[in-house]
Amino acid sequence: MNKPSIALLLLTALLLAGAAVRTHADQAAPDPAGAVAPERLTQGALSAPEYAFKQEVYRRHVARGLTSGRPRVFDLPSSALAPIPGTQTLMRRDAAAALGGLLGAARADLTADLDAPGQDAETTDRRERARRVEALALDNAYRSASTQFGIWDRNYAGYAASTRAARLLCPGGEFGPAAADLLREYVGVRVAAPGFSNHQGGTAVDFALRCQPAAAPAIVAARLGPSAAQADPWKESWFWLWLNRRAGAFGFIAYLPEPWHWEFAPDRAGKGRS
Ligand SMILES: [Zn+2]
Repeated sequence: MNKPSIALLLLTALLLAGAAVRTHADQAAPDPAGAVAPERLTQGALSAPEYAFKQEVYRRHVARGLTSGRPRVFDLPSSALAPIPGTQTLMRRDAAAALGGLLGAARADLTADLDAPGQDAETTDRRERARRVEALALDNAYRSASTQFGIWDRNYAGYAASTRAARLLCPGGEFGPAAADLLREYVGVRVAAPGFSNHQGGTAVDFALRCQPAAAPAIVAARLGPSAAQADPWKESWFWLWLNRRAGAFGFIAYLPEPWHWEFAPDRAGKGRS
């Protein structure tokens, strides 16, 4: 091989290597954190200082998640997800299958409780609660990072309004660092930062319940869903009492502050439960 041919070969090899590197960079997944960056929060009617404060609260909330030791999760690949049987709602494959089993068992037990002939206090109570149930349903399960980001973004205004009086008393004022920590704390018990919700991991489900409103048991709305205002009615419902007895057998555990929210955690479920 003569010298010009070797040079040409080397040049070709370098060009190919360059192309390979460029192709790799082009095909790499976009930075998932970019989709949930604080700059993407909506400003709406907020003034510049108010908007900067919103971003700061968000940054602090994400930073809190990063130091919690929990892995940060963005979107699951669609191959990891499956619809919960009989629905369009997605969950992680194993959780979806387990939840299908749970819902089937709950519906069978609901029918059995409605038809139970016993007149003892427990049977009567279950039958009365079962009569209030029109349908066991799902509100939501898997959420993408951008869905979780949207929830955080939308809910912020209400949280900011609820904490304003307390923030005005903070050293540094309502938009100072102490106020940012106060609001971050307040937000943190109500919504997870994007990347840190177990809905994003595909293992959490928020149930819904269609029911007949009744004074006793105190089911006050025709539909119970993920709402803090409905925590007490949820705990009076046939379904919640059933979940507490049986969900562990299907690998689901309760999250007590939110009676509608259950998590698939088979390693932790079932201990001490029937
Ligand atoms: Zn939930």
